Amino acid sequence: MKPVCVLGNGQLGRMLRQAGEPLGITVYPVGPDADPQAVPWRQAVITAEIERWPETALTREIAGHNGFVNRDIFPRLADRLTQKQLLDELGLATAPWQLLANAGEWPGVFSRLGELAIVKRRTGGYDGRGQWRIRPGGEGELPADAYGECIVEQGINFSGEVSLVGARAHDGHCVFYPLTHNLHEEGILRTSVAFPLADPGLQQQAESMLSAIMNALGYVGVMAMECFIVGDRLLINELAPRVHNSGHWTQNGASISQFELHLRAVLGLALPVPVVSTPSVMVNLIGTDVNYDWLNDALVHLHWYEKEVRPARKVGHLNLTHPDRATLTHSLSTLAPQLPPEYQSGIRWAQERLK
Ligand code: ATP
Ligand code: MG
Ligand code: MG
Repeated sequence: MKPVCVLGNGQLGRMLRQAGEPLGITVYPVGPDADPQAVPWRQAVITAEIERWPETALTREIAGHNGFVNRDIFPRLADRLTQKQLLDELGLATAPWQLLANAGEWPGVFSRLGELAIVKRRTGGYDGRGQWRIRPGGEGELPADAYGECIVEQGINFSGEVSLVGARAHDGHCVFYPLTHNLHEEGILRTSVAFPLADPGLQQQAESMLSAIMNALGYVGVMAMECFIVGDRLLINELAPRVHNSGHWTQNGASISQFELHLRAVLGLALPVPVVSTPSVMVNLIGTDVNYDWLNDALVHLHWYEKEVRPARKVGHLNLTHPDRATLTHSLSTLAPQLPPEYQSGIRWAQERLK
């Protein structure tokens, strides 16, 4: 089997490498600054775990390689302006938005979009960074360099957030996991819950939206679509052309993990619909050091990224999966006192979903 080079050497690249191992697929996660001579990229299929990258010796070399899957799609989705334009072109519902070119636009922004405006940097934002929530009178909070570099969206009063993780094969067929319910706090994903059967109306809407996007782009591999639930409709928040944090539960809760699914898709291997037969919960470890006492509960799967622990940094996650919801709820109750206070609301939220 061909090796796979992953541009980016964070936790997603690490978990792609882990997923390749049992299949005999060698995965090389590489940072953009890696020496191109040290990476067997010429013989490899190339993918990425990051959405944009600087021009370096390595990225210049691989830019011309025809084994770089989705190469021209990354820049289109990495810029929120062109990503939103794509959604509008496809007629897919998304939070109403506009480009924010200068401060003179504020009166028009509030009259078009309402009292809560969410300003987002066009590129480079993640985990809620590069975002501002602005109400009339608060325009001064926005740094001057944001104008021209940001879009502004309507603040959406959603009842919940879900994401759809799916994959498209070279032959165009698409497969999906059940929708994942996500709790974000201060812009960062804290907890996800997934069930074998999602609400059929929402699942069908989401699948038709994401397959329209992947087909229009000719995309191959795993893509994630984050949505707001408003009434019985989905509004697309954003797209990620890669494996996604809200799909981490699939490592232990699905017959094929999102990481293996991505490798299968880019390598042209079989891509059946992953089977999900039990509910799953994923708890992100954010700025918290590892505690091996978590392993006292037999349901806890620890995925530790071996990164330096810093505040607000994703350093690992815990997956729990079990067919019986009460057993899962009980394990979460056992786990709760072993985690810092900022985890408690996310654990209670997951327990509510499991009721
Ligand atoms: P990620 O780490 O998922 O890439 P990000 O920094 O790209 O995050 P978004 O996904 O755009 O940021 O926003 C983060 C969170 O902020 C959302 O999941 C949601 O909770 C909230 N949010 C973003 N946009 C809006 C909006 N228009 N209305 C209401 N809430 C929003
Ligand atoms: Mg994002
Ligand atoms: Mg997001």
